[in-house]
Amino acid sequence: MSFEQLQTAFALSSRLIESKTFHDLNVALITILMEMENIADVSSYEILGKRAVDGGNIEPLIRKFPLSLDENFKDEYQSVVRYIYRQGAAGVEKHDIEGSAFICIYVNKDEPPEKLVLIQGEVSEFDYEIIKGLASIYEHQINLFDVKERDLLTKLHNRQTFVTTMEQVLDFYRSDRHSELSSFMAILDIDHFKQVNDKFGHMQGDEVLIHFANLMRKSFRHADFLFRYGGEEFVVIINQTDEQSALLLLDSFRLNVQQFNFPSGNITVSIGLTSINPLTPIPTMIEVADEALYLAKNNGRNRIEVMNKSTKQIIDNDIEFF
Ligand code: GH3
Ligand code: MG
Ligand code: MG
Repeated sequence: MSFEQLQTAFALSSRLIESKTFHDLNVALITILMEMENIADVSSYEILGKRAVDGGNIEPLIRKFPLSLDENFKDEYQSVVRYIYRQGAAGVEKHDIEGSAFICIYVNKDEPPEKLVLIQGEVSEFDYEIIKGLASIYEHQINLFDVKERDLLTKLHNRQTFVTTMEQVLDFYRSDRHSELSSFMAILDIDHFKQVNDKFGHMQGDEVLIHFANLMRKSFRHADFLFRYGGEEFVVIINQTDEQSALLLLDSFRLNVQQFNFPSGNITVSIGLTSINPLTPIPTMIEVADEALYLAKNNGRNRIEVMNKSTKQIIDNDIEFF
């Protein structure tokens, strides 16, 4: 390797290391790869899980980066992603699929989501070595971001990640105004959780939180985003749907919680729902969802209330225009 090549390798590595979030890391990797010679396209995916389809086949549930909000995402590389998923080999590999050359970076860990970066094109031996080096940094950074962006107890995304995810959701609607469907934000707060701690101790309380998060994973769809927002407060972003369907989904979750046999006996959840409007500031939407939650608590708990921008907030926003 020449001195110049070594310099290139270091410069590219540091561009990856500078990323502060998983989102930034993907942007950096895609940008670097697209700058390389002979690379036609780069796309990045998260494989969130798998499901059985007709005929007993197993299909991966894929989320594309930048954000795809559809429950059953499809793109031109869908069959390539499925092929690589079936091969299941972690690391960097060259593939010749349907007459096209691909290089694939597949990060396959014990815990989902798996990450997959698909690079279309044939590269020089030197660039291939660079890609291998970048892939190992990419994997290392992913491990770091998993610790930083997820809540340790429940493994759901944490409050900090909520803000960056919301920004991506808002970007999606800002760039795709034709979509008839929208996204919704719900705040979920366990009822009388303090009593669980008081009666059974903090450890049992923690266990309830883990079961609660697992029920969330089971009840919501792969296209939805789940967060632990604070102690016993959780947030769900329900994507590409309408208010009626969002309410149905939340109500079936509410029932799942009510019927679940927690180690501390039965618990219930109160929920505040609001629609996500790309023109409304994120803190305002949280405030409105919180108001709806407050109403659900006041109206007897174990229920859902919906609230959209209240008159007060519309007035507040109007004032900002002057
Ligand atoms: P409400 O129905 O009005 O929501 O009542 P609540 O008791 O659920 O609400 P409150 O805000 O009074 O109490 C929340 C409790 O959650 C207090 C706190 O000790 C507990 N908590 C917060 N974080 C954790 C945690 O990580 N583990 C455990 N075990 N408890 C937690
Ligand atoms: Mg509570
Ligand atoms: Mg609370």
